[in-house]
Amino acid sequence: MRFLLWLFPALLSAGSDWGQTGVRPQSDPGLTPVMQAAPAYDVVLRNGRVLDPESGFDGVRNVGIAGRTIAALSNAPLRGRVEVDATGLVVTPGFIDLHSHGQTPENYRFKAMDGVTTALELEVGVSPVGEWYAAREGRSVVNFGASSGHIPARMAVMKDTGGLLPRDGAMNRPSTPEEQQTIEAALQQGLEQGGLGMGMGITYTPTATPDEILNLFYLAARFKRPVFVHMRGGNVVASLQEVITDAAVSGAPLHVVHINSAATAKTPLALRMIEGARARGLDVTTEAYPYTASMTEIASAAYDGWERRGPEAFASLLWPATGERLTRESFERYRKQGGFVIQFGNTDEMVRAAVSHPLVMIASDGIVENGKGHPRGAGTFARVLGQYVREQKALSLMDAVRKSSLMPAQRLESMSPQMRQKGRIKVGADADISVFDAATVIDKATFENAAQYSEGVRYVLVDGVFVVRDGKLQEAVFPGQGIRAK
Ligand SMILES: [Zn+2]
Repeated sequence: MRFLLWLFPALLSAGSDWGQTGVRPQSDPGLTPVMQAAPAYDVVLRNGRVLDPESGFDGVRNVGIAGRTIAALSNAPLRGRVEVDATGLVVTPGFIDLHSHGQTPENYRFKAMDGVTTALELEVGVSPVGEWYAAREGRSVVNFGASSGHIPARMAVMKDTGGLLPRDGAMNRPSTPEEQQTIEAALQQGLEQGGLGMGMGITYTPTATPDEILNLFYLAARFKRPVFVHMRGGNVVASLQEVITDAAVSGAPLHVVHINSAATAKTPLALRMIEGARARGLDVTTEAYPYTASMTEIASAAYDGWERRGPEAFASLLWPATGERLTRESFERYRKQGGFVIQFGNTDEMVRAAVSHPLVMIASDGIVENGKGHPRGAGTFARVLGQYVREQKALSLMDAVRKSSLMPAQRLESMSPQMRQKGRIKVGADADISVFDAATVIDKATFENAAQYSEGVRYVLVDGVFVVRDGKLQEAVFPGQGIRAK
């Protein structure tokens, strides 16, 4: 239907549409009434401050959207079937979240209200890939996509009983040569089915040897796809050296996820290593989320050896299902039971250094389950705009928008041509757009109540369709498309 309206906007001028859209013919003696009335665009965002991180453009424009595409950027008034007054608001490319574990309708709603138009699960990834995409086509509020995931493939082959992350088979023992072949075959199939690169969380598969990991980099390199990796636990320098070396010798591009929580106090050193790798010609990128606490599964390898720690270690843990801080007793009980745990382990200073560093993209690492989780699942992008841009002035608005839209699009576009038309506000780009009030935009999700929509995001369009309008989530619209590698 949208295509029809786009091709034949004059059709709309007849009939009773005027009252519903508020668009009325204006007197112009040179045109017939029907021609005067014809809106040229499906949607017009009037008079907003447009930011385009690719060209650096920052100025007031009218944005005309035809079908799923940005068709005009103009100083002159534009006529739209639907017109929105964006005076005083900022119009930017919709945000692209490279690290969104939450891939359910509940999570997509939080994403949309945080200004996100594309939410991708690239760290853990999925397996099998084809079925995962099929389950979301036509049912998703925002665009979605996933990498071909080492963790889920290894869990399936090694009969692990964990959930998102391993807790026994894939965590506790090395894989046999036969198992490695089966894991690689599953990962290759995922790449053939359009998986957006390869996902790896080596810290969660500590028994995966350096050889197993390097072989997978070679596989990703054969497909010219990036590896998205949560590096090994332990020594930050050695863990980062492992994946940078694997990228160098295999030729696979590398994206190191959440440098803030992977490197904590060594974040500046880790960023320096990534800068150095890039200066030597390697394709290495990274990301961060704007919180001092992390979250992962308590039964995972991330908490191996914790039983030997002192009481202050347990007190740094928060159980989001109940809001309680942990003790040795409750830690041991919940580790047997399983579930997500939040860990306060970083400083404001390190988070600010990561979020404001020119190389670092913004990505949430978020997941909300039945209203419980870490606030990053709902608030990451509004928090960067409200806390780090407006209140702390740690980076400019344009830089924050670039880190949240253009940079993630560029990370993906060599394998996914769809991404060349996202992350930009220009004629011909996809109409994935966020419109927010820079003076009020802010996250509302907290560690006590993670399931709260961000405020100040007024309009969000996915593929030319409003998913947020007047600050409210729209019901029963599912314009989200699957983003695949080709
Ligand atoms: Zn991670």
